[in-house]
Amino acid sequence: MVTETAVWRDRLTTAERAQLGRGAGDISQRRPDVLVVGGGIAGVATAAACHAAGLGTVLLIEAGRLGSGATGGAAGLLTPEIHEWSDPEPFVELARTSLELWGELERTWPDGVGLIELDWIGLAPDPDGFAPHQRPAVEWLDHDQVAELVPGLARPMAGALIRRQARVNPLRSLARLAAVLPAVATGTAATSVTVKGGRVVRVSTTAEDIHPGAVVFATGLPPLLDGLALDLPASRVKGHLLVTEPSPVRLPGTVAPVATQLDDGRLLVGGTFDMGDESPAVRQDVIDSILAALYATLPAVRGLPAAYQWCCFRPRHPDGLPVIDRVPGLDNAWLTSGHFRTGILMAPVTAQTITRWISAGEPPAEAAAWSSLRFAERRHTAR
Ligand SMILES: Cc1cc2nc3c(=O)[nH]c(=O)nc-3n(C[C@H](O)[C@H](O)[C@H](O)COP(=O)(O)OP(=O)(O)OC[C@H]3O[C@@H](n4cnc5c(N)ncnc54)[C@H](O)[C@@H]3O)c2cc1C
Repeated sequence: MVTETAVWRDRLTTAERAQLGRGAGDISQRRPDVLVVGGGIAGVATAAACHAAGLGTVLLIEAGRLGSGATGGAAGLLTPEIHEWSDPEPFVELARTSLELWGELERTWPDGVGLIELDWIGLAPDPDGFAPHQRPAVEWLDHDQVAELVPGLARPMAGALIRRQARVNPLRSLARLAAVLPAVATGTAATSVTVKGGRVVRVSTTAEDIHPGAVVFATGLPPLLDGLALDLPASRVKGHLLVTEPSPVRLPGTVAPVATQLDDGRLLVGGTFDMGDESPAVRQDVIDSILAALYATLPAVRGLPAAYQWCCFRPRHPDGLPVIDRVPGLDNAWLTSGHFRTGILMAPVTAQTITRWISAGEPPAEAAAWSSLRFAERRHTAR
């Protein structure tokens, strides 16, 4: 029997699971100092950071249950160094800082946030291996070294090793972060905003109206709300993942693109990019192709079936980079959106950036690269 949901919820304790459906429709706090809209990892981390920084009363509202968007379906890998091969340097720097902040949360948060340190091993698809620029963080592995670390590969492969990366069960981290928040209302969607004198004075919801001191929109895609003049280009990129039955084969940490081994021996596999597929349904042909690729690379697990299979959507801006910004033209509204394939990794640094900005009234230096105005400027140039 294959379960067609992400594996993460089944691995939570009863108390952690209860956090995800907290305070259904319950808006006891109608004039919070900070309102956060969206209970994915970005919103929960931001609400928790604002609360921890003493920014006053914080209310988090979420349309569904906490983690019901991209967060609940993510692989949960926190691997900043591999972005050296694909993303601009400011992004990699931000990602490194965020992994450090994940470590800090693990040490300081009540009961930690469920961070699991691991090594990342990337198998080189051809004899030339990876792009040549070598960072100090990368150790190159020859065929013999790879064979020792990853026994049972179909053919000899070179590889790259990056130590001290990490992973989380995204729902566990979410639940642990949410546990400190005094006010959470799930099942409560923001529907419109009222703006006066350059400030959001009211956020109307499916429950009550809220009159926040400051508001942060962390809705995955940019918020689409009546009264909020925000027009950012964004789309969704579907991805499928699966988790197998427990495997007798032992993998060290995460082996890309093969699998990440979970604590009980199950293999977490996939993370497809199904461009243009807008259907919310799991496609069996995609799942079959993920399994076929796994068996072809690691014949020792041939026939190991999927126990969980699921899909979800990554929120993406056209350049694949996030927005972390104040809403243009508004003094008391911020937004973060388009975290695409690294929103779990980036949550703590996003939360810290917005919290500092609200607290100081000035943007922290690290915010400059993630402004929403980069799209306005492009549209202007294109004309
Ligand atoms: C297959 C796959 C694998 C991935 N693997 C990784 C990985 O290994 N590492 C990594 O870092 N990232 C990964 N990601 C990306 C990561 O999942 C996302 O970037 C991240 O979850 C985005 O978080 P978020 O909080 O911005 O958005 P979401 O998790 O989508 O949360 C937004 C929330 O806002 C709520 N909402 C929206 N509108 C309203 C409204 N009007 N009122 C109230 N609530 C509202 C939604 O219900 C939702 O719960 C993966 C994604 C996919 C699809």
